[in-house]
Amino acid sequence: MIRMAGVDKFFGPLHVLKNIDLEVPKGQVVVVLGPSGSGKSTLCRAINRLEPINSGIIEVDGKQLPAEGKQLAALRADVGMVFQQFNLFAHKTILENVMLAPMKVRKLNKTDARTRAMELLERVGIANQADKHPAQLSGGQQQRVAIARALAMRPKVMLFDEPTSALDPEMVQEVLDVMTTLAKDGMTMLVVTHEMGFARKAADRVIFMADGEIVEDSTPTEFFTSPRSARAKDFLGKIL
Ligand code: ATP
Ligand code: MG
Repeated sequence: MIRMAGVDKFFGPLHVLKNIDLEVPKGQVVVVLGPSGSGKSTLCRAINRLEPINSGIIEVDGKQLPAEGKQLAALRADVGMVFQQFNLFAHKTILENVMLAPMKVRKLNKTDARTRAMELLERVGIANQADKHPAQLSGGQQQRVAIARALAMRPKVMLFDEPTSALDPEMVQEVLDVMTTLAKDGMTMLVVTHEMGFARKAADRVIFMADGEIVEDSTPTEFFTSPRSARAKDFLGKIL
């Protein structure tokens, strides 16, 4: 579903993605771990072309992706992304936040967009908040709206970049629960997170990055019980 081959990315002289090869088959849940600055966010952003790459190939669903134009909009619609900051539209209701992109990009009519949005709000457990504005919701609820909003486009892949890092501790689990359900339902997911419980339980695969490289690529059990590299051992020593 996602294929990266020989991907390099520079910020000026800084080489932040170094010859990345990565394939994520349909339905797989991949957790990306690594120290700060290792390139995890850049990897996510490269996949939906929020960051241009300097060389290599990135395909989503077998299509190599153009850097601009209409096809880029289509690509972005296929790749849902959820960030640390929820980025909801403050002056729109929860329901409108979820309805907007499908109407604009997928050309859904209002009735269908509303029906789909309500189904998704139901699914993330906040249908009863549909008419409120983002500021009236807790952080955990806002992040669940952000997930519903991404799902409203019927993406083929979902990327999560530290979706729970900005949340108060008591709200982390409700967001992880939504993500776990999504994973069980077969969504293809790439998840940057520091939530090791989620990595152990929900991931099919763990990728460990350091200095712009994929240093380890293994099952969660392998990674957590017998990391091979010194850098992974060091990382685990600090967080576990
Ligand atoms: P964190 O865990 O802190 O979120 P990360 O693994 O997501 O880190 P990236 O944000 O991908 O790391 O950053 C990788 C490297 O690229 C870092 O050295 C960072 O300082 C640098 N970098 C990221 N964005 C830019 C930018 N827009 N301009 C210049 N350098 C950048
Ligand atoms: Mg990051």
